[in-house]
Amino acid sequence: MTRTAIVWFRWDLRTEDNPAWAAATADYDAVVPVFIWGPEEEGPKPLGGASCWYLHHALERFDARLRDRGSRLIVRRGPAADVLEELVEATAADAVFANHRYEPYAVDRDGDVASRLADKGAGFERSHGHLLIEPDAVRTKTGKPYQVFTPFWKSIRATIADEFLDEWKETSGVAADRRRKGRNDFPSPDTWPASVPIDDLGLLPTPDWAGGLRDTWTPGREGAIDRLRTFLDGPVLEYEHDRDFPAIEGTSRLSPHLRFGEIGVREVYVATVEKHGAEAADTFLSELAWREFAYHLLVHFPDTIGAPLKEKFDRMPWRDDPDGLRAWRRGETGFPIVDAGMRQLYATGWMHNRVRMIVGSFLTKDLLIDWREGEAWFWDCLVDADPASNTLGWQWVSGCGADAAPFFRIFNPTTQSERYDGKGDYIREFVEELDGLNPKAIHAPRRVDGYPGPVVDHGERRDAALEAYKAIK
Ligand code: FAD
Repeated sequence: MTRTAIVWFRWDLRTEDNPAWAAATADYDAVVPVFIWGPEEEGPKPLGGASCWYLHHALERFDARLRDRGSRLIVRRGPAADVLEELVEATAADAVFANHRYEPYAVDRDGDVASRLADKGAGFERSHGHLLIEPDAVRTKTGKPYQVFTPFWKSIRATIADEFLDEWKETSGVAADRRRKGRNDFPSPDTWPASVPIDDLGLLPTPDWAGGLRDTWTPGREGAIDRLRTFLDGPVLEYEHDRDFPAIEGTSRLSPHLRFGEIGVREVYVATVEKHGAEAADTFLSELAWREFAYHLLVHFPDTIGAPLKEKFDRMPWRDDPDGLRAWRRGETGFPIVDAGMRQLYATGWMHNRVRMIVGSFLTKDLLIDWREGEAWFWDCLVDADPASNTLGWQWVSGCGADAAPFFRIFNPTTQSERYDGKGDYIREFVEELDGLNPKAIHAPRRVDGYPGPVVDHGERRDAALEAYKAIK
């Protein structure tokens, strides 16, 4: 008798380094890959516009890759428990396999799915495929979750010993996939259950504003592997220095691929260590660990998805300033580095990390606008918008999170611009009005046609922000 399993793909759109897929394909004669679109089940975080655009293409690419191996992606609309119940019945599957998700709303939903499937007599087998280290696997000496990055990184680095890496390679499906080379096709059922066309999910924007995203990104596994190769071929060795300069392509730009799981973080880690050794690539590996830290915090402090970790920030007198918020979103603040970042975000769905910090500081300190406004705008505009990393990033930048930059450390946007975009090349790329300015004038331009004057006086706003902070200390 044919034994059938379903693999429910979520933010892990790959068959390589995918423990759920590896487990199902190792043990079952037929495996049905499924993706369920259910934005209403994503709690406060249904995907934003740029992520929806990315997901559309990621699903298309993933389906094409499965079809190359005799399989296909069955696409359905949620609610997930209803869809899975129906699919278990239609395919006579014994079990549904998936990789863990960690957002509080997804954890609750997965609990319901498990009990509904159990009622049907089907298992719900979950594996760990999203992170290097499970959020529960490390604790401080006193048994508490970490709230400071450096000891967290030290602790997980110790666990990620060489033998552990080897073990991953064995269990993650990389080895299994290599072994399967002879047998090219994935185990598939004789007849496939019905699927809705990806186009019908309505993920693409109307009107079409995604030209800049198309020019910048190649969703899909091939795009991810290309990025990783290019990065490991050189930039990774200069990463420690270059990563702070937005005009240089000094970072991996793997973030959307990691977000949607087109490449696994263990694959990235293992490939980096194999090619350069852990020491030479230490700074890059530690950035991957910030992603781990973000998930560690999300799991142990789930309320932080909408509330500050440091509770005193609940009393922060954030300003209601629609004009300031609009200028910030549009990249019309009159501070060139801030405007370049916000325009890069809007045009390409991504922003350089150094600039994310600068625009975040500007919003929450110069404009004294609630970090949640910034978080929400990033959520809508980023192709890599991630519930854990975006929360961590905004709480870090506004001072209200774990191991955050202290609130009183306020970036001066002009000095930051001079230090990290000295020649103004990054500004020139995204703020056309300033194209003709020389490297001296470009960081704080005076009366340029078509370009707004500064919306605030940085010195004054700095003092006001420090006053506001005094009130909650
Ligand atoms: P690289 O420098 O090449 O790093 C490799 C990978 O490590 C990244 O792809 C990412 O997965 C991870 N990483 C690196 N830095 C961080 C970090 N500080 N926190 C968490 N993970 C990190 N990152 C997101 O993936 N999604 C977000 O929604 C997000 N929002 C942010 C918001 C703010 C306000 C700030 C300050 C940072 C945010 N980041 C977010 C972190 C960081 O800016 C991006 O991960 C990085 O810019 C992505 O570019 P890259 O892939 O070239 O990174």
